[in-house]
Amino acid sequence: MPDVFADLVGQDEAVVELRRAAAAAAAVLRAGAADRAPALVAAAPTSDDALPADGLDPSSGMTHAWIFTGPPGSGRSVAARAFAAALECVHGTGCGECPGCHTTMGGTHADVRMVVPEGLSIGVGEMRALVLRAASTPSGGRWQVVVIEDADRLTEAAGNALLKAIEEPPPRTVFLLCAPSTHPDDISVTIRSRCRVVPLRQPPAAAVAEVLVRRDGVAPDVAQWAAAAAQGHVGRARRLARDPEARKRREAVLAVPRRLTGVGAAFDAASALIEAAEAEAEASVTEADTTERAALETALGAGGTGRGAAGAIRGAAGQLKELEKRQKSRATRAQRDALDRALVDLAGFYRDALTMALRAPVAPVHTDTAALAGAGAQKWDAEGALRRLEAVLACRAAIEANVKPRIAVEAMMLALWKG
Ligand SMILES: [Zn+2]
Repeated sequence: MPDVFADLVGQDEAVVELRRAAAAAAAVLRAGAADRAPALVAAAPTSDDALPADGLDPSSGMTHAWIFTGPPGSGRSVAARAFAAALECVHGTGCGECPGCHTTMGGTHADVRMVVPEGLSIGVGEMRALVLRAASTPSGGRWQVVVIEDADRLTEAAGNALLKAIEEPPPRTVFLLCAPSTHPDDISVTIRSRCRVVPLRQPPAAAVAEVLVRRDGVAPDVAQWAAAAAQGHVGRARRLARDPEARKRREAVLAVPRRLTGVGAAFDAASALIEAAEAEAEASVTEADTTERAALETALGAGGTGRGAAGAIRGAAGQLKELEKRQKSRATRAQRDALDRALVDLAGFYRDALTMALRAPVAPVHTDTAALAGAGAQKWDAEGALRRLEAVLACRAAIEANVKPRIAVEAMMLALWKG
């Protein structure tokens, strides 16, 4: 049985550091137990000053707050979850076999909370509740672990609530944040200054392919193709290898360069790209939306009769409105994520054209459209390919800066057509 770090692809240095930290954390727990036991027998009062308040020396292997940084798909949340498991592991190693490892990896450990923002941001209410619960004594006797995926989506108020907890951490609480980088746009300087940073790199395609074969049983040739096409994004590579719908969407995106034959075609391509992203996003959130609404309506007593029920429904309107707001925010996020995936695929195509025009000795991202990229390289030269690549990247940046997606994509398509 592989241990909990086995799925962290191509991150050897980070794994070494996390193993060392888990061992140090286990040593802290052992030392704590040893200190308390004689105290109980002898009933000798121990001053709080005898131990560092939290038992954690920041210069040692273990500390209370961590940030995992790296490009999307590099495995930030995989690393955070594995580290959480190693902290809860009864052997302190992340053996992958004990109940602590199992329940953490399965998402059911009572002392481990994974916060996955569904909307565009993590609000202050959610964060306060989380910080409060994180301060309680770990029921399993080890650590309370809070994993915040996409910590770059914290609102300012939520960030402040978190900062307070990180500044004075309860003795047995560990915060694991995930963010693209430690740039102040992603994570506040004050939070950053309290955390140890674990940088993850974009895993090499060969390492991604290897894990697809070993863990997911994907055929080696398919794994190699998917790993290259996903550009180091492990989850994306897995989807491409296993989900025919994901492959179809990618093919549609990569057909765009061929279709740009005029202004009308450019606008058509923009519409198609936007609508495909909307459809993909809708498919991913509709089921959750319906389930949530039904659950809330049941909880609020919809369908009941009589004066009590009528009053309850009036009071419920506010809660339903709140739910709709949350769902709308989640749908917007899903659309942006879907569109961004498409733009990354498209950027890969023009990157291939550019490297071919430059005769750079690197493997293409999209082996299946390499011939088309080669034709583009001849027609556009390096400069034209670069301008097109920049148009795709500018579109991503514009959408990230809240430009309306349709406007950004139309501008990009026109630039790709004109060159
Ligand atoms: Zn274990």
